[in-house]
Formats: sequence, structure tokens, C-alpha cells
Amino acid sequence: MSVDSTIKGYYDKILNRNPGEPEFHQAVHEVLQSLKFVLTKDAHYDDFGLIERMVEPERQIIFRVPWVDDTGVVQVNRGFRVQFNSTLGPYKGGLRFHPSVNLGIVKFLGFEQIFKNSLTGLPIGGAKGGADFDPKGRSDREVMTFCQSFMTELHRHIGEYRDVPAGDIGVGGREIGYLFGQYRRLTNEYESGVLTGKGLKWGGSLVRTEATGYGAVYFTQEMLSADKQRFDGARVTVSGSGNVAIYAAQKAQELGATVIAMSDSSGYVHAPDGINIELLKDVKERRRGRMSDYAAEVDRVTYRDSGSIWDIETDVALPCATQNELDGEAAKTLADQGCRYVAEGANMPCTADAVDVFRRRGIHFAPGKAANAGGVATSALEMQQNASRDSWSFGYTDKRLRSIMSNIFQTCATTAEEYDQPGNYVVGANIAGFKKVADAMLAQGVI
Ligand code: GLU
Repeated sequence: MSVDSTIKGYYDKILNRNPGEPEFHQAVHEVLQSLKFVLTKDAHYDDFGLIERMVEPERQIIFRVPWVDDTGVVQVNRGFRVQFNSTLGPYKGGLRFHPSVNLGIVKFLGFEQIFKNSLTGLPIGGAKGGADFDPKGRSDREVMTFCQSFMTELHRHIGEYRDVPAGDIGVGGREIGYLFGQYRRLTNEYESGVLTGKGLKWGGSLVRTEATGYGAVYFTQEMLSADKQRFDGARVTVSGSGNVAIYAAQKAQELGATVIAMSDSSGYVHAPDGINIELLKDVKERRRGRMSDYAAEVDRVTYRDSGSIWDIETDVALPCATQNELDGEAAKTLADQGCRYVAEGANMPCTADAVDVFRRRGIHFAPGKAANAGGVATSALEMQQNASRDSWSFGYTDKRLRSIMSNIFQTCATTAEEYDQPGNYVVGANIAGFKKVADAMLAQGVI
């Protein structure tokens, strides 16, 4: 059988066994496309049920999350934890609280996490979880009550050596605090390493908050420098205005770029003179406000609640909002207007069509599982600090993050070359991430 028909065989089976999960199909399809190059060279990866095992989560937990809102009404949400692969270490990956969360979304994120975590070079398996809870408009007390109910079930399934959740969309420092408090109460143990993204006064790591955004910019910096370019003087568009976007924008501006646009789910701000990061942080982090609130407080910016942030002419695009936010049309517009570099700060923000356009138009493209691995990598550094009851300085932790991102870039670049796809960081990331997990799975037997 040809490799193409082998890949198609795997993919058809996945479609049949996992109906109604388009994001999961999309994530698997992208990885399988890259694995073609591996299976042609090393046929043993096509044996031992390896690929079938890799696309089947080790465990999927779905649970009811009942809680009482501020008006006394009982609310029922659905909680998830997909423990995808623990070959390289305890399951590791974030929790997402967003109304769009369903099993397919959690599976796509968990699947991506396996390869991302493998690329960091640190001993962490892949998982993801969350709930279809919408924190928007909820009071602090409601968020706490929800987190406590969510953890009342989740605590049975996690642990320092078992599964270590963290944040993602809708889950930040506040939520991790409530989740940790409830875990501690239920287990009657102070198990610091059970969650990452903790507060700095109780086991958290410096740089964890900034890590995903900073890491994405460090990766992009490597990609630019491989093309003899720099951030200095570049125009950068960053979609989103959450944790990843804010710190990507901050680092890009520190390196001399001008962040000319940022967005949220209601609209985007065009700021030709750059973003005032301190004000943005105040609006988003302290006041939990919107981009329109930011726009109302600064001069010479335009706020639009229609159209697309990708219509703006830019040099570097950093999609840092959510999955499939940048499609083929947007990719064409970016290419037509001279954008040369795209790096995914979010998980799978570019559709398969968009990635195709980037490849055809010679745009340098960094896939999320490589470019946004800095967050989870710094989570693993937080686990190291917890295990040794130590805490590192900002400078030291940032240096570690920088070197991890640079190693990931080198790994992606050399792997892409090894498989005759120079500059194709998608292929490089997928193959390098896959091979490490695959080799360990083969060594550990059929389990
Ligand atoms: N949610 C983040 C990610 O997508 C971080 C996960 C973690 O720190 O465990 O990688």
C-alpha cells in the first residue's frame, strides 16, 4: 500500500470513530500529512498500532458541574479532562472555560499538546480539559463556586505524578487559585506540583504569566533571524488581548517592533503608533474590560466592530486569540499586503487553507505547537521548582525559556531539512514531536 493510502486509511478510521469533532479531525489530519515523510523513510513507525494508539486518548473524563449562581438558580455545566498520552511524563495541559468547549475541542487541544510538550524536551505527557462555562459577566463569587464544583470531581483524576492541569482561555491566576484551594481542602495535602500557573506567593513561578507570549516572540525572533530579519522596526499585528496576546505584544515592542493592532471577540483596535501595554494591562487584567474601553482612553487609534484585523497591512502576524480565527481569505489578504511572517500564539488559529496559502506564497509560518510551547515549558519549570521546593529569579527563568524556544526552533528547522522540507516548520514540529513520543511508546510496549 502506498503511504498516501496508508495515511488515508488512518484518517478515514479517525473520521468514523470520532464523528462530529471537526477540530480534532483537522489537528490529526495536519499531523498525518507530516508523518507521510516519516513513514516513507522509517516503516517501523507504521507498525505496532503506534499511530492508532497515538490518536486514541488514554482516558477521557466527562462530568457534571452543578453550581448555584448569585440569583440562587442551579446551573449545570459539563466538565472535561482528556488524558491523551503519558508516555513522556505525567499528563500536562491547560483547562479552558469557554461556552464553545466540547469534547472535540478538548481532544484537538489534547492531541496538539502531546507533540508540543514533547518538543519542549521536558518530561511531560499531553492532556487538556475544561468546561462549557462562560466566565464573562459572572461575579467573582460565581467563578469561585464554579471552580470549587469543577475541582470536586477533577481532584480524583489529577496529581503531581498523574496529571497537572494549568490555565488556558478563561482560566488564569484567579481560577487556578480557587481550583488549588479546593484541591488542597479535598485531599488535605499541600501538593504544590498538582497545578501550574499558581500565584507567586504560594508556589507559582516567575515568568509563567508572560511565558506563552514571550515564547512565541522568541520563536518568531529565531525565524526572522534565519531569514536575516529582526523585530526592530517591524509592524506587528497581534490578534486577541488575553494573556498570550498581551505578553506577545509587550515582548515584540521591547524588541523594537510596533504592535499596530489587537482585538477581542467584539472588534479590533488599529493603533499605527503602537499599543500602550501598561494601559492595556490595566484595562484587561485589573478592570476585566474590553478593547473598546482601551480605545476610548487613547488618541490616534480606531476601533472597529466589523471587518477583520487581518485586513490591516502588516509585516508580522501573531494570531493569539483562538482556533480557526485566520482563514484562507485572510491569509491571502495578508500575503497580498506584504506580510512575510506568521507565528501562532494560540492553538491552531490558522485554518488548513490559510497554512496552504502561506506555503504557496512563501510566508514563513510557525505552527502553534512549536511557537506557543513556552507556556507549558514554563509550567514544567514551575513543576521543577515545586519538586525542589525552590523558586528561581525572573532573569534565570526567562533565560531558560529563551533557550527552550531556541532549541525548539533548531529542532523544527533541522528536522524539516532532514526530511527534505527546508523551512517547513509544520513538518519539522510534527515529525520531531512525534518521533520522541513514538520511540518512547515503542520502548514501553503495547499499553
Ligand atoms: N494552555 C497552555 C497551552 O496551550 C498551557 C498549558 C500548561 O501550562 O500546562 O499549552
